[in-house]
Amino acid sequence: MSTATAMRTLLAEVASRIAAAPRLEGDVRDDAVREAQLLVAGVLDVAPGVVLQAAARDDTVTPLVVDAVRRATARRAEGEPLAYCVGHAAFRHLVLQVDARVLVPRPETEVVVDEVLRCTADAPGGVAVDIGTGSGAIALALATEGRFDRVIATDVSRDALDVARANARRVSPATPLDFRAGADLAPLAELRASGTRVRVLVSNPPYIAWSEAAALPSSVRDWEPSVALFADDDGMARYRVLLAGAPALLEVGGWVVLEVDARRGGITADLARQHGYDPVRLVRDYAGRDRVLVARWPGPRERAISGSIGQ
Ligand code: SAM
Ligand code: GLN
Repeated sequence: MSTATAMRTLLAEVASRIAAAPRLEGDVRDDAVREAQLLVAGVLDVAPGVVLQAAARDDTVTPLVVDAVRRATARRAEGEPLAYCVGHAAFRHLVLQVDARVLVPRPETEVVVDEVLRCTADAPGGVAVDIGTGSGAIALALATEGRFDRVIATDVSRDALDVARANARRVSPATPLDFRAGADLAPLAELRASGTRVRVLVSNPPYIAWSEAAALPSSVRDWEPSVALFADDDGMARYRVLLAGAPALLEVGGWVVLEVDARRGGITADLARQHGYDPVRLVRDYAGRDRVLVARWPGPRERAISGSIGQ
């Protein structure tokens, strides 16, 4: 017959497996006690503080929990990202289910959502589009926190769209949300045909150059989908397509908000200016790096006038 295990014993067991796992990055192994708390909290779907309190009270956990924690620990010890091992990740106020079909939503992408909400704060309504939605993180945050009439989420990966749709069913936002499969702006052809204009086009596209793959942490390079990470043309391919194509879809005064690689913020901003967006600005993330490009589409007329004055 199986018996209960003390939470404290379980945490110590997980921490010692993490500390001794050669495939894990050094900083994770060095902070194995913290990683163990996060892992057990993730499996139980509670805040890490709850786990610490349980350990302090000398609480026990059931054999079912011990099994689930051991399975997650074994995966983590192989180097798999924590979010995949526990099956979910936090993004803004949401908890999203994630697995190897999608990028784990990052804290810095929360800044992208802030910028979309900021540049559309003057009035409610309009259509917001999230290109390359992955887990649905940006689209679901906009559908729950924004005041849009509609949010459209696209992805070239049908596997990713399955994850995003499942997250949408759980979050169940009040704003209508459509999912569409396809590359870049292709899923929006019907909008163009019907004359519907987009108020804000947002994307966290793949932007890592193939030549940079070797320098990535193995938890990213070896586990997250390549289609979510890498782009041709030194990481610029998706920016070129999105910045060139968005004006045909945007309202006059509409916005493009793109997560950018900190190393390529400047050239992405220059590219946006060359296409006639005005103003164009770069916003920094919590770590102080250029992270978000915010560009307004002034419309062809305003562009022609400011162009003739400026040259
Ligand atoms: N938006 C999610 C987030 O911020 O966590 C996922 C971002 S991930 C960096 C990029 C996403 O874009 C992936 O889900 C990938 O499948 C998708 N993708 C890659 N190339 C694409 C393309 N050409 N058109 C549309 N989506 C694409
Ligand atoms: N921010 C991710 C990373 O460097 C990359 C995601 C992307 O290419 N958009 O880990």
